[in-house]
Amino acid sequence: TTEPTLAELDASKIQCTYSESPRSVPAVGSAEMASQKVCTDHMVQARWTVESGWDAPTLQPYGPIALAPTASCLHYATECFEGMKLYRGHDGKLRLFRPELNCKRMLMSTNRIALPAFDPKELLKLIVKLCATDGKKWLPKDRAGQFLYIRPTMIASDPALGVERPKEALLFVILCCFAPMGDMSGGIKLLASQDDMCRAWPGGFGYAKVGANYGPSLVAQGEARKRGYHQILWLFGEDCTITEAGASNFFVVWRTKEGSLQLVTADLNGRIVLDGVTRRSILELARSRLNSEAPSSSSATTESDLESLEIVERKFNIFDIEEAAREGRLVEAFAAGTAWFVAPISQIHFRGKDIDVPMAKGNAGAYASTIRSWLQGIMWGSDGMESHEWGRVI
Ligand code: PMP
Repeated sequence: TTEPTLAELDASKIQCTYSESPRSVPAVGSAEMASQKVCTDHMVQARWTVESGWDAPTLQPYGPIALAPTASCLHYATECFEGMKLYRGHDGKLRLFRPELNCKRMLMSTNRIALPAFDPKELLKLIVKLCATDGKKWLPKDRAGQFLYIRPTMIASDPALGVERPKEALLFVILCCFAPMGDMSGGIKLLASQDDMCRAWPGGFGYAKVGANYGPSLVAQGEARKRGYHQILWLFGEDCTITEAGASNFFVVWRTKEGSLQLVTADLNGRIVLDGVTRRSILELARSRLNSEAPSSSSATTESDLESLEIVERKFNIFDIEEAAREGRLVEAFAAGTAWFVAPISQIHFRGKDIDVPMAKGNAGAYASTIRSWLQGIMWGSDGMESHEWGRVI
């Protein structure tokens, strides 16, 4: 007997039903815009079953999803997602930023929680289709520099309570209105996590963008907010290894005891830290434009009057930062991710003491702001920027 062939996810089979009751786009600065509840007119969906694979995807009016109360995702956290943005450029174009990386990461996340596989290129086509359908209306040309948040999600939708690999799943993509990013130039304050609150651990799933990583972080995050901090700096283990800052990767610029200037971020070994698209992009740009070990580059985009530095992915801890601060070797620190973009850090609170990061004293985060403007140029096609392969025009 031959196994029945399961249908692959195939964006070319998409069936479109357009909304007959289009809604109004929230005004910039409105409470609605800030609510993070307003999505665009349409969504993309695709259903998968263990018997037949992927159904033809649909583009349909945005609306609630019906799930049985027994659905696996409601009980066993069989859910994963992605976070990316559709940018309205200063040149009037709509762009995605390295969306193929998000689609690949989504596949990696689904693998971790027994959700079905798919070709990431097909997911990207579905995302592009949704952005092309709703982007023009929901991110009009006069909103240059703004964005819509894109949330691809997969859930196990089996209506059966058994604790087992899902037999049915739903992939969907929505576009959500977000207020333009606030000014973070004053720097953000981080509260280092305590021993009783750990985000991720070796052999766990911190490296995957599964919902199960986020719910349990909210107690600590709420505590941080209550005490006047923006986010948690997630430490791991007895040696207080630095992993991530909130839902962002963490970077520090310091001078080593030997005198070399370094840009440092946690390595991805141990599968604790998320392989952030922003993180990866910063490392790649810094390696080609700021690296003190590279042969001097002749590229036109390398101009910056910053001292070049070594780019290092390694294990390091909060005591290294404390010591660097005490010895005057700490240069700056910043958080990097889709949500916060590149946000300079002014202070870290650890075990009753504040570690001041120099930018708070007016020594503004020169590396963070340079890196930020490079990325901004690619995402929003800012004036004078040549087009870059990372910016995918819709
Ligand atoms: N770490 C965590 C835990 C995150 O949730 C995110 C957001 N996806 C990031 C880092 C940053 O990743 P990216 O640059 O891809 O947004």
